[in-house]
Amino acid sequence: MEDDLVKDWEKLRLTEDEGVVLGGEYIETVTEDTKAQLNLTLMGKLWTVKPYNLEAMKRTLMNVWRLKEKFAVRVVETNLFAFQFFCEEDKARVLEGRPWFFDEKLLLLQEVYGEEQPSEICFKNTPMWVRLMDVPLNKRSISVMYDIGEFIELDESDPLGWSESMRIKVLVDINKPLRRGLFLATDQNSSRWIDVKYERLADFCFFCGRLDHTEKECQHKEQAKGSEPMMVYQYGPWLRASPKKKTRIDMAEREFERAWIEKLRQSAGSKKAPSYNDPNVIKLGPVGAARKLVFSPTMAHHKPDIPKSPVRKREAELRVVKGEGSMNFVLRTMGKAEREDREFGAVGEAGQGKEDSMGEGKK
Ligand SMILES: [Zn+2]
Repeated sequence: MEDDLVKDWEKLRLTEDEGVVLGGEYIETVTEDTKAQLNLTLMGKLWTVKPYNLEAMKRTLMNVWRLKEKFAVRVVETNLFAFQFFCEEDKARVLEGRPWFFDEKLLLLQEVYGEEQPSEICFKNTPMWVRLMDVPLNKRSISVMYDIGEFIELDESDPLGWSESMRIKVLVDINKPLRRGLFLATDQNSSRWIDVKYERLADFCFFCGRLDHTEKECQHKEQAKGSEPMMVYQYGPWLRASPKKKTRIDMAEREFERAWIEKLRQSAGSKKAPSYNDPNVIKLGPVGAARKLVFSPTMAHHKPDIPKSPVRKREAELRVVKGEGSMNFVLRTMGKAEREDREFGAVGEAGQGKEDSMGEGKK
């Protein structure tokens, strides 16, 4: 079927007029006012397979956004909207407050540059506050969290970090099933499963975990029907985190805790091994020098299908020389020409310019 369609389209012939590219003289003429208008525009996509009514959505958003000025909205395609804001502050507030929902459907919002055709605009992700449950107490640091997804921020309102969950804001991929959890390495050979929950999670599919439909409209479920004696819903409302509790916080106590944690960090930092200026460490220079030597990438064995490039003859070698104006010994690469010179007993100044420092360190 698809092949036939492609074959049919190959028969398309543009007329001479249609084949000419127009507007070449005006490429540079996007005016400042258009740019300024685009700066205050956001494209919005209601992430659902059902078409929605604009007026109802506008009324709801007006209430939840609570902006300084009004905003305007136009339908660009089914469920694709252009939001026009009238001040920078309002646009920033809406972006910052994401994710937004209308009628339990996710409203994706993003900035545009203006060159793209509306049909090309691609929505990939949405910021969301997620909770990591039951995280080992010694793993509750920001560095552990970088691998989860595109990390935006960590909720540090509790400086001690001993709450029920770790609360982080990440970019969630909207085209993939929601992540239900993750394995967190606890040492070289072991890991622990950490449950993930999502704040303000509205409709999603309990069968396949995607955000743009519910199990009623799920095509994956339709396809799976009959293949197993019993349907298995892999996802459920348990992925929703209860909203963040607003507890009355004693600010003075929190301030004391924060200062104490900061002190711990600093003293840990001062004990930290070795700094860049430590005379007992070897400091490598730019990789450029090493690259001249033959060494193969360590990951090569993971890609058996890539033909190996022929091994190049070693073009340089290393030697230790005394650095100019210092007592340190320096590792220098020596080019081919220099080696030949040496063989003839004439190492001159000519080779100096090509030298790269591989590193400095006391020997
Ligand atoms: Zn589904």
